[in-house]
Amino acid sequence: MQPAELDTGRCDRQHEDARLAALVSTGILDTPPEPSYDAITRLAAEYFRANSASIGFADESRVWIKSHWGPHIREVPRKNSIFDLVLANDGPVIASEFSELSLSEEKLPIFSLLGAGFFASVPVRSFDGKILGTLSIFAREARLGLAPDELHMLESLANMAASQLELRRLRKSLTGNGSPRLHDAGASAIWPSSNDLRRALDQHQFVLYYQPEVELSTRKIVGLEALIRWAHPERGLVPPLDFIPLAEESGLILPIGDWGLEEACKQIQSWCLEDSRHASLRVGVNLSARQFSREGLADHVRALLLQFGLSSRQLGLEMTESSLTPNIRTAMEVLGSLRRLGVSLLLDDFGTGYSSLNHLHSFPFDVLKIDRSFVVRMTEGDQPLQIVRTIIELARVLGLDVVAEGIETREQYRLLRQLGCRFGQGYLFARPMSAEAVTQLLRLPGRVLPDPEACDILRV
Ligand code: C2E
Ligand code: MG
Ligand code: MG
Repeated sequence: MQPAELDTGRCDRQHEDARLAALVSTGILDTPPEPSYDAITRLAAEYFRANSASIGFADESRVWIKSHWGPHIREVPRKNSIFDLVLANDGPVIASEFSELSLSEEKLPIFSLLGAGFFASVPVRSFDGKILGTLSIFAREARLGLAPDELHMLESLANMAASQLELRRLRKSLTGNGSPRLHDAGASAIWPSSNDLRRALDQHQFVLYYQPEVELSTRKIVGLEALIRWAHPERGLVPPLDFIPLAEESGLILPIGDWGLEEACKQIQSWCLEDSRHASLRVGVNLSARQFSREGLADHVRALLLQFGLSSRQLGLEMTESSLTPNIRTAMEVLGSLRRLGVSLLLDDFGTGYSSLNHLHSFPFDVLKIDRSFVVRMTEGDQPLQIVRTIIELARVLGLDVVAEGIETREQYRLLRQLGCRFGQGYLFARPMSAEAVTQLLRLPGRVLPDPEACDILRV
């Protein structure tokens, strides 16, 4: 054997070992299909009018199909698979006919099931560029190729799959099993107790703080997010994460949530009385899972809008994907009726859920809020930045507005604008503050916040 060949072989082996190690760290191999990828394959299939779309990750001998829009396949042999072609090509493989690939049909296990036609396959890469799997589409109807825009779209969807995989790896490194971290009920058993919460409600100790949401290009305040705090007589201002989980567990989130909705509506009315132009503000209220399992939620919201003389455009409801999953059917009905009512529906903490993309397509959201964890990592390198770019692009395709959460630095602000993100909130602009403090802020001319570099006063 020639030394050069020997080197190439060793290099390939190292490459393959590194690739497999990256995959093993995600725990994705030899697991059942994952619904979290279904929105991607479905979007790909619909966008390209394809008969099939699939996402698979390959170990040494098999390609594990995690989502297949079209015929159901769980795994295929890797030898001579599309994955191997993409790996050899180190990039997309696009063909109008199988003959262009100089491979026989029986050597293309996925596509041999589908018959001849057009297909395109792009790599799903790890954050440091290793090809871990592919996103492939197949259409029976022949077409000449993919326009640059279309290829870009397919690659964006593959990046979305890569982000999903990266989230899985992060979760696995946090919990050891790739499952979402569960609330530590033991810690909350000490303080507060449900009795403490009940007493707090009776004694009117909960307050709403509000954080401005701005249009990034103008820094105009376009909305506010209502964030609950517990003004505890001894402990001071207690943050929501210290008591909301217990409120959810104990069911007290229902009366607390009702109070929050009413309080927010009352406050919107009061801002509008101060200045009728504030009617263009949208105030977002966070809702928990339990609140969605009540079929009467839309009626309750309608009654509040009437009581305070508000238009439905003035209210937004924020929910995380996991808050919708316990009872999908009811959540779907409740969201449908809220949507008919005209209130905005915001998908909160996007990207952190167990199956982040799963329901994006089927639920009637208006706005997607990119979780702070992505914004924080955005300046760490190309791949984290790519995730944010892909989320923004996906939202654009789905016709959703995007709000970036947790903007703290000018660099994040600059990058987000560059990526075409329209709205944002974060300490850089303003922290959550009392209704009185917000009232002052809303008096700024045009409701435009000063340039962040000159507005330290807003960050204290
Ligand atoms: P969320 O809805 O995602 O709210 C955003 C959180 O990020 C808020 O935390 C906000 O204070 C914080 N934040 C905003 N900008 C920045 C920033 O630049 N840097 C950093 N480090 N943090 C920033 P908060 O107020 O502690 O609320 C935490 C979570 O509690 C909320 O997350 C929401 O899920 C829940 N929550 C708040 N109020 C309510 C409520 O009334 N009902 C329910 N069910 N949940 C609520
Ligand atoms: Mg929120
Ligand atoms: Mg959030």
